[in-house]
Amino acid sequence: MNYQDILHSQREFFNTQKTKNVKFRKMYLEKLRDLIIQNENLLYEAIHKDFGKSQFETYVTEISFILKDIDYYLKNLNSLSKPKKVTTNLANQIATSKIHSEPLGCTLVIGAWNYPYQLSLSPLIASIAAGNCCILKPSEIAENTMKAMVKIINENFPSEYIHVFEGGIDETTEILKLIFDKIFFTGSTKVGKIVYKAASEHLTPVTLELGGKSPVIVTKEANMEIAAKRIVWGKFLNAGQTCVAPDYILVEESVKEQLLEMLRKYINEFKYEPDSEQYTRIINKKNFERLVKLINPDKIYFGGKSIEDSLFIEPTILNNVSWEDNVMQEEIFGPLLPVISFTNFHQALNSVLELEKPLSAYLFTNNNEEKDLFTQKLSFGGGCINDVVMHLGNDNLPFGGVGSSGMGSYHGKFGFEAFSHQKAVLDRATWGEPDLKYPPYSENKIKWIKKLL
Ligand code: NAD
Repeated sequence: MNYQDILHSQREFFNTQKTKNVKFRKMYLEKLRDLIIQNENLLYEAIHKDFGKSQFETYVTEISFILKDIDYYLKNLNSLSKPKKVTTNLANQIATSKIHSEPLGCTLVIGAWNYPYQLSLSPLIASIAAGNCCILKPSEIAENTMKAMVKIINENFPSEYIHVFEGGIDETTEILKLIFDKIFFTGSTKVGKIVYKAASEHLTPVTLELGGKSPVIVTKEANMEIAAKRIVWGKFLNAGQTCVAPDYILVEESVKEQLLEMLRKYINEFKYEPDSEQYTRIINKKNFERLVKLINPDKIYFGGKSIEDSLFIEPTILNNVSWEDNVMQEEIFGPLLPVISFTNFHQALNSVLELEKPLSAYLFTNNNEEKDLFTQKLSFGGGCINDVVMHLGNDNLPFGGVGSSGMGSYHGKFGFEAFSHQKAVLDRATWGEPDLKYPPYSENKIKWIKKLL
């Protein structure tokens, strides 16, 4: 069936009202959970074929994430979907006021390749939880994981409810011509603009989960050992192909050498070696070549080696980098870590303020004043103090960007809300009707109205 036919069947199915039933939603969430558990090995094999991602990292950053999402909604769906009673103002008495979370209808999820399961299935799960029908279009760049999701979902879910389409730019362009009730996109800022433009044709609401250059600032008040250990982990996880990975380090000049030494120590300790089964490869030749070009040999402090045949790039630290260097002109999205030093904390914050608003920002310090300044002065999607990446793992925090790193958010109740409309309903009693608002108006009525409003 073509895109239009599937969407048409989904609209008809949505209109039967079946997806609004909380039991129905839970039944399919449980089904998806069971399918993921039954097909765990297939999922590991596919992602390993795509870019050599290890079973350990796949479980920690993808499978466990998805299972946790499903569990969250199974546990919280009753309360999330229950109408919320709110206070009724005096002028509307006597009445009750409620907010009803209603599903938006037919939704489209477009995924990115770097965490192919999490970034496709997490929004899909939120869409199901909120009571929608959904078309999913994972990234074609991670071809094997895309095919695995097509197999698992299309063989087990009715297409008039949930369906996965394969495809790249041409297919997505065609799909984007259709009228959806919500588009949830994860990917680059460049393609985010294309999606936003297509959505605007039909006034379709969007969530855009985009990228950017996420800074990590390290001051002399930081615990250097912890800072280095956590930065190395967060940066070289998935070989730096993580939207919230620290893109570059801004370090206070007086502690730069100490931090560099610690970074070296942890990269060595974590054993990211060419024959390692645990270190992820670069997704394809195009990205490999782009990254290799960004390595300025004069600035290598550590690493710099690459092996084209196996798409391996060693964790690489670039020292004495300037804001004008090529590596600072684009989101790196790979295992290169430029280091820039500063002598004044305010200036460091100002340098970040001059750039596009990042998806994440991180600060390592034990100084409360610096923590407050960082939080208040910088605008970023989300971040951590004395850690990197981990804010993503707390479902009570919204995950999303701001400015050029995106709009809207998800995870936990924020995911449910991203796929819902908050419908306001005022239910008035048919007795106790004051005549105040009705014509003919009078001086006396306006006196009372002023008191009431
Ligand atoms: P991408 O923008 O190239 O592709 C994302 C999706 O858009 C894919 O499904 C692709 O098929 C589709 N697409 C690509 N070009 C298109 C076009 N011209 N028209 C219509 N559709 C098109 O991104 P990517 O390479 O898959 O992912 C890397 C980017 O995504 C990085 O910038 C990264 O920071 C960002 N990202 C953001 C998050 C987040 O949660 N905010 C998560 C992961 C990745």
